[in-house]
Amino acid sequence: MKRKGKFFKDNVLTEEPSVDSRASLILLKRELRALDPHVPEYEKWLAFRLDVLKEREENGELNCFYCGCGPLLADVDQQDPRCATLDHVNPLASGGPKYDRNNLLVACKDCNSRKRDMSVQSFLELLGLELDKEVPLW
Ligand SMILES: [Zn+2]
Repeated sequence: MKRKGKFFKDNVLTEEPSVDSRASLILLKRELRALDPHVPEYEKWLAFRLDVLKEREENGELNCFYCGCGPLLADVDQQDPRCATLDHVNPLASGGPKYDRNNLLVACKDCNSRKRDMSVQSFLELLGLELDKEVPLW
């Protein structure tokens, strides 16, 4: 006979460990460890992001592409409303390249969060602006 349960709860084998059991804690730790590969990826993005923003800052290109506000700040806390963000022209959700500098536009936090996965054209139309800016074509 094949044993189904893996954990004891009240002296009975069960499929899931009880929430407060040691087994549950071990499973939780295992799941957290499985998430670890995402941490270096996020740190890689933060370093890349800062590099791109500093480069644009040196070239005086740290105004929001969409609303024109700025100059925004490259190296401040990301909670700061003056913090520059990078918007992916071809959105990541559509398979746009994350680390291609030609796929990145400087945007203020407000515009970037409002734009979400819209195309540049659609968002500018939404803002009521004309597309007279040079945009990388995809
Ligand atoms: Zn803006």
